[in-house]
Amino acid sequence: MALPSTYADFYRRSIDDRDAFWAEQAQLVDWHKPFDRVCNYDKAPFARWFEGGLTNLCHNAVDRHLKDRADQNALIFVSTETDTETVYSYRELHAEVQRMAAILRSLGVGKGDRVLIYMPMIAEACFAMLACARIGAIHSVVFGGFASHSLASRIDDAQPKLVISADAGMRSGKVVPYKHLLDEAISLAVHKPQHVLMVNRGLADLAPVAGRDVDYASLRQQHLGAQVPCEWVDSTHPSYILYTSGTTGKPKGVQRDTGGYAVALAASMRHIYMAQPGETYFSTSDIGWVVGHSYIIYGPLINGMATIMYEGLPTRPDAGIWWSLVEKYKVSVMFSAPTAARVLKKQDPAYLSKYDLSSLKALFLAGEPLDEPTATWIANAIQKPIIDNYWQTETGWPIMAVCNGIEPAPTKFGSPGKAVYGYDVRLIDESTGEEITEPNKKGVIAVEGPLPPGCLQTVWGDDARYVKTYWSSIHGRTMYSTFDWGVRDADGYFFILGRTDDVINVAGHRLGTREIEESISSHPAVAEVAVVGVADQLKGQVAVAFAVLKDPALAASEADALKLEGAVMKVVDEQLGAVARPAHVRFVSVLPKTRSGKLLRRAIQAVCEGRDPGDLTTMDDPTALQQIRELVS
Ligand code: ATP
Ligand code: MG
Repeated sequence: MALPSTYADFYRRSIDDRDAFWAEQAQLVDWHKPFDRVCNYDKAPFARWFEGGLTNLCHNAVDRHLKDRADQNALIFVSTETDTETVYSYRELHAEVQRMAAILRSLGVGKGDRVLIYMPMIAEACFAMLACARIGAIHSVVFGGFASHSLASRIDDAQPKLVISADAGMRSGKVVPYKHLLDEAISLAVHKPQHVLMVNRGLADLAPVAGRDVDYASLRQQHLGAQVPCEWVDSTHPSYILYTSGTTGKPKGVQRDTGGYAVALAASMRHIYMAQPGETYFSTSDIGWVVGHSYIIYGPLINGMATIMYEGLPTRPDAGIWWSLVEKYKVSVMFSAPTAARVLKKQDPAYLSKYDLSSLKALFLAGEPLDEPTATWIANAIQKPIIDNYWQTETGWPIMAVCNGIEPAPTKFGSPGKAVYGYDVRLIDESTGEEITEPNKKGVIAVEGPLPPGCLQTVWGDDARYVKTYWSSIHGRTMYSTFDWGVRDADGYFFILGRTDDVINVAGHRLGTREIEESISSHPAVAEVAVVGVADQLKGQVAVAFAVLKDPALAASEADALKLEGAVMKVVDEQLGAVARPAHVRFVSVLPKTRSGKLLRRAIQAVCEGRDPGDLTTMDDPTALQQIRELVS
């Protein structure tokens, strides 16, 4: 296909000549029957991509590579928790997926049925996802770290016929049993799955429920030679449901299609991640998150690469573990999150630089704001480009990035890059509702519909919620809101300033929590910080900061803490001005986060204002909020 020479041309074409652009990108995947229509947007804001086409995600991820790559590595499973390392070639992956698909069929699962996958990071979870796609079943992966309450609400929303789980996960050398949580969740849920397929790792008690629970290993034995052809499904057939991280409230069940998603991922692998077939991709995320779906499982495999699935911590046995895998498997592209980089930052950088990282082209980070000190630290430690990219569970792939695969371009610190092809990104002034066209002016990041291929089709089972939550009309143009706040500079680079919920209004000045956090984290004593807006009689709102120190001893006495608070405030005064100065800077040992590592500012704010923090099911460490409660009272 003819590639325009500059990114600007490439981007323009994706918007101005949308259908021709995406018809070309669609050649990166296999179609059993070609599509009749590239984008049907007759029922805006619902977009139907590649209508009339028949395809299958599993075929594109596995079967189509057998011709050229049967013996090439497909899935590299590494667990530093159980000391396991298993490499599956495309041929072997194909066999395992067919066995799993045969098991699903034998349990009565067919096209359109939901299968809930509640599993640790083990190879069987990958087989399960691909097997669902193979037979047209809709998977819903629930992060293995969630407890019964979160799980029960997802069971009731997705109404799975089957649940696939395992006896236990492992974290930091400790067994984390799953089965009792699952049993509890099923008893809490109104909907009852017919069967539970259990993978027994021999780590914890299984306590099988008669008539409901079945054992994976014995069923696999019965289906060793299984041949289950791919079920050709409409391009618009739902491939999966995935719940958002729940940072701002009740998670939304994102429903993804099949054909649009395959095309979006295939294109992104080349244009954004500079990843070539035959190479190895290593995403350190978890299959319970969108990054795990798009860039552990589907993206790399659709692109004919080997993908690493890693169970364990980035620091065990030592902080060199990820980088030793880069050396061993010649990883060309790595994808992680700022939160992981911050964990590594507490370690000696020598662990990272001691391996041969020559195969690695870049480290991509996404999921939350990447602060400059963290970016600089990791860039120095590995001596590779660090590329921020911005997206959401809803979009499935980046909205903003630097598309080096089209035209190499510089990165700017604090910026996830420019609008990605296919996304007609607009900034909207929150108070007037008008579009902002001049540079360096803050606004809500919106995308004019239709969203490009690969983005959510709707909220599972709730079209009305989809329309009501995300879409609005501005002078007759349908606009998708990201609920994030940002600014675009004169070169077209965006800077994310925080969520719209996180905008603080101090005496009429609108400030992003992100700006204040960025400023505070430039103080050398600060490891991490959360800033929230707290109601104030005089000023409307004031900023309050909670910081984690690199060395807690620095604020051990009250006098030390006061001194440090003053020093931090001075940094903000100098960088942003007195208006942004937090009213208080408090020191804590840990910040409340979601299980995916995102700051729960909503909960902090509620506690500061003496309100009920609401749904905390996705919170990682409850003691974090307790510390804040004590400081505030
Ligand atoms: P919920 O929507 O349920 O409240 P969530 O928004 O945290 O949860 P995700 O879809 O996992 O769920 O996260 C997407 C959000 O993460 C974005 O809307 C943005 O706020 C933030 N984010 C993602 N990538 C970046 C990035 N590179 N820079 C800054 N923020 C980012
Ligand atoms: Mg969100």
